[in-house]
Amino acid sequence: MERLIKQGIDLIKGIWSLGVGLAVTAWYLVNRKITVQYPKQVVPREASESFRGPIELVGQPKDPATPKCISCMMCVSACPSGCISITKQKPPKLSPEEEKAFAEAEARGEKPKRPVAPRNPATWRYNYTYCSLCACCIEACPVNSIKFSNELYLAGTSRGDFHYDLLARLKRKAAEAKAAEDAKASETKDSGSADAAAQPGSPNISQAVPEKADEASSASGQAKSEAAL
Ligand code: SF4
Ligand code: SF4
Repeated sequence: MERLIKQGIDLIKGIWSLGVGLAVTAWYLVNRKITVQYPKQVVPREASESFRGPIELVGQPKDPATPKCISCMMCVSACPSGCISITKQKPPKLSPEEEKAFAEAEARGEKPKRPVAPRNPATWRYNYTYCSLCACCIEACPVNSIKFSNELYLAGTSRGDFHYDLLARLKRKAAEAKAAEDAKASETKDSGSADAAAQPGSPNISQAVPEKADEASSASGQAKSEAAL
């Protein structure tokens, strides 16, 4: 009897497992496919958001070109593969006069505050060829200064191509983001002034303005359609 009950339970479990598997298959069957014919097509940006690419530094909210990193070295200790190497900044060098003034103050029994080194790292290097994308460094960082990038299309001809200077990379990305922001702002400004000029009865409208407005709006439309491609 006990054996029969066990067989019955196993049967129900098997049918349940089969049902779950078929439901997953059916879900993927009816949903939009996200596989693409690379290199003729590339994965859309939104589909790559969750991809774990090589790690990168996170910039400060007010200064995106400077990392949040405080050179605590926790990530270096946490990395099981030795991928990360960081150098701390040195304190600013004192002039002989300043050094003498500090020495005199200390001789008098005072405790002058010597300048300390900036907390940001001097160098932050990452060897992607050893990285197992385990996220130990990300979890160890106390200031959330590391994250996975979502770079899908990495290619190189030597291992050296995957040894990254993450400080330089952060600066480059911040500059690119700023340039894109400026371009967008100027495009919005241009289309805004063209729209205002095209309105009948608006001040400072001359006979030539509507033509210019048309040119501007058609140029903007062309730019947008090119961007959409
Ligand atoms: S993801 Fe893991 S292996 Fe890669 S750098 Fe971070 S700790 Fe090291
Ligand atoms: S754990 Fe974070 S703050 Fe510390 S050195 Fe690494 S990146 Fe910088």
